[in-house]
Amino acid sequence: MEAVATENQTLIAQMVRDFGAQYIQPHIMEWDESQEFPRDVFSRLGELGLMGVLVPTEYGGAGFGYPEYVTAIAGLARIDGSIGLSMAAHNSLCTGHILQHASEAQKQQYLPRLASGEWLGAWGLTEPNTGSDAGNMRTTAVRDGDAFVLNGAKNFITHGKSGDVAVVIARTGEVGDSHGMTAFIVERGTPGFAAGRKENKLGMRASETTEMIFTDCRVPAANVIGAVGEGFVQSLKVLDGGRISIAALSLGIAQGALEAAIQYSKERQQFNQPISQFQGIAFKLADMATEIEAARLLTYRAAEMKDAGLNVNRESAMAKLYASEVSVRVANEAVQIFGGYGYTKDYPVEKFYRDAKLCTIGEGTSEIQKLVIARTLLK
Ligand SMILES: Cc1cc2nc3c(=O)[nH]c(=O)nc-3n(C[C@H](O)[C@H](O)[C@H](O)COP(=O)(O)OP(=O)(O)OC[C@H]3O[C@@H](n4cnc5c(N)ncnc54)[C@H](O)[C@@H]3O)c2cc1C
Repeated sequence: MEAVATENQTLIAQMVRDFGAQYIQPHIMEWDESQEFPRDVFSRLGELGLMGVLVPTEYGGAGFGYPEYVTAIAGLARIDGSIGLSMAAHNSLCTGHILQHASEAQKQQYLPRLASGEWLGAWGLTEPNTGSDAGNMRTTAVRDGDAFVLNGAKNFITHGKSGDVAVVIARTGEVGDSHGMTAFIVERGTPGFAAGRKENKLGMRASETTEMIFTDCRVPAANVIGAVGEGFVQSLKVLDGGRISIAALSLGIAQGALEAAIQYSKERQQFNQPISQFQGIAFKLADMATEIEAARLLTYRAAEMKDAGLNVNRESAMAKLYASEVSVRVANEAVQIFGGYGYTKDYPVEKFYRDAKLCTIGEGTSEIQKLVIARTLLK
């Protein structure tokens, strides 16, 4: 799929392709219709090293870099966006936050189980009343002896119910103070920590999205990640990497939709010829492929910069903004190429179309990506 794939990327792409054909492809529509979250798939992905792609080998991870990570997510999303989304959220957000900001003891305690897929991770930043404006969150964490007591609710949390451990950002200071929030590691089963409503979604239906509710939930002070007051700033850094994964997710969905559209356009006959012979259809395919290639270049560029230790605040926002909008446009055109059949669940493009839309919303909407990019231009 890549312009110039490394040997590792080629191997990962093939591994994901084989895995998808065996464990995902046969169940895609069944999971989608019933909104079933196939937890066992993630244990299997763990066996392949894909639940700890960026985690160093000393903590049981695969020890790969961001380009390999992009390849893995795009490969999964080409088959099923939901699996790509859950894998990305687990790796970039929960595991990524611990990897980037936790203490050595916390890393040793949590990373091996997360990287193996034995444990599934969740990450709670968003709240019902604060999404784009996450810095205004209202969930509180109040110090009480050797613990913090959390009260409030997080919503739209990937694996909010099935997650074995969550990184939760809560307010420990004043509203309006970007240093008034702290990140906590909260294990499932902690008294006062419960899952709330599961969302009934347009797309990404096999990826679990639920509320997380905290009622006088005591979390040991030892579970604070980094220092008190650093949680929001840490989260913004986590999102810089996470956005590369959503760009990868977008790429995979767009690629899957393009491949389906190319194949269908060669098979479908109208006016006694394949519809691919109509310039109106062929030009659509050319535009789709060109936009995907541009998105791919932006995404791999951000990935390579991230691996080189450079600041990717602008580049990851650009990759995420462009790739997600391309994904929606490409999936839309793919449905158009399928005509009426594209509007049915008998063909895959209907699902690509629904799944793609999440990419312009999750981990910061397109509007928020533009704010991030503009800020770097105008400062
Ligand atoms: C399937 C799914 C999975 C998710 N997983 C997670 C997760 O695991 N963890 C987590 O913490 N969150 C998660 N989210 C939440 C996601 O990050 C938020 O939905 C997203 O950040 C947008 O917030 P919001 O939904 O509250 O929209 P709002 O912030 O209310 O935005 C509504 C509209 O207003 C626009 N808008 C807002 N502010 C501005 C502005 N300043 N300028 C211009 N336009 C603006 C937005 O772009 C959007 O169009 C998930 C969401 C979904 C749908």
